[in-house]
Amino acid sequence: MREVLVVGSLAYDSVKTPSGKAEKSLGGSANYFSLAASLFAPVRVVGVVGEDYQPQDKEILLNRKVCLDGLQTVPGKTFHWEGTYEHNLNEAVTLKTELNVFAHFNPKLPNHYQDSSYVFLANIDPTLQLEVLSQVKKPLFVGMDSMNFWINSKQDELLKVFKKVDIVFMNEAEAKMLTQTDNGVRAIKNVSELGPKYVVVKKGEYGATIYSKAHGFYQVPALPVENVVDPTGAGDSFAGGFFGTLASRTSSSEVPSWTDLKQAALAGTVLSSQTIQDFSMKALVKVDKPAFDSHLHQLKGMIN
Ligand code: AMP
Repeated sequence: MREVLVVGSLAYDSVKTPSGKAEKSLGGSANYFSLAASLFAPVRVVGVVGEDYQPQDKEILLNRKVCLDGLQTVPGKTFHWEGTYEHNLNEAVTLKTELNVFAHFNPKLPNHYQDSSYVFLANIDPTLQLEVLSQVKKPLFVGMDSMNFWINSKQDELLKVFKKVDIVFMNEAEAKMLTQTDNGVRAIKNVSELGPKYVVVKKGEYGATIYSKAHGFYQVPALPVENVVDPTGAGDSFAGGFFGTLASRTSSSEVPSWTDLKQAALAGTVLSSQTIQDFSMKALVKVDKPAFDSHLHQLKGMIN
């Protein structure tokens, strides 16, 4: 069992979907990721929040024994994202991104974080992703996520991160946008040409695909969900379940195998399918190990 270090956003989100809306509710890539990953492995968070961040929101992670020694609280407001989903629930339309305290964030890893073997650079400014990675002494397996906001505003920096990671997670629309192709298969292959050994492309209700040059494709269907309330955080929950599972399956210097990655994709699928059934982190926080095991059993039955 290894620890997972994550850098990403801790946020207040204002989200509107066909099911309703939630104003300034808890979100952020690092929050969803940590909650999902902590079902399987110890998690260490690097990030920043403002003085408006509520103590009970920190408690959600602390209750899961997530380490917040790398979380700074500084004067100013917490990151705020406002988005809406219309007919296509697989695609968020960003209305506002207020970086607030993230605009001047200078991550400094506590000493005991520097030996982390699993590192996840969740969706955040690619400059910060690089900054954090440079402070980890000997990472064993590094993953990253991003989104159209950074593809548009900081593409050069983002491509530097692609060259330093083992695995990249992207939405299908973002993979197509980045590689300027309309074909999903070509998009995933083209992303793998940018540096990472593995690429995971998430396709909402159509599941997810992992690709590597050495192993080809592995396709996981989504668990059927009748009532998609809020897709926010699905990608981060997927990545959290994925990385937590990898960390729990491997020991010391053992690099994850293709089989580990396939199992990890099943865990990611289960957690993203739970996140989307309520606003904010309300559904994800209710998933304990027995609930996870039961959904995983259902997914495996479906695949067989
Ligand atoms: P996803 O899993 O892709 O749905 O990620 C949703 C989370 O990403 C939301 O809770 C947002 O707070 C966060 N987010 C949105 N835009 C950004 C951004 N530009 N940088 C970092 N985090 C973001």
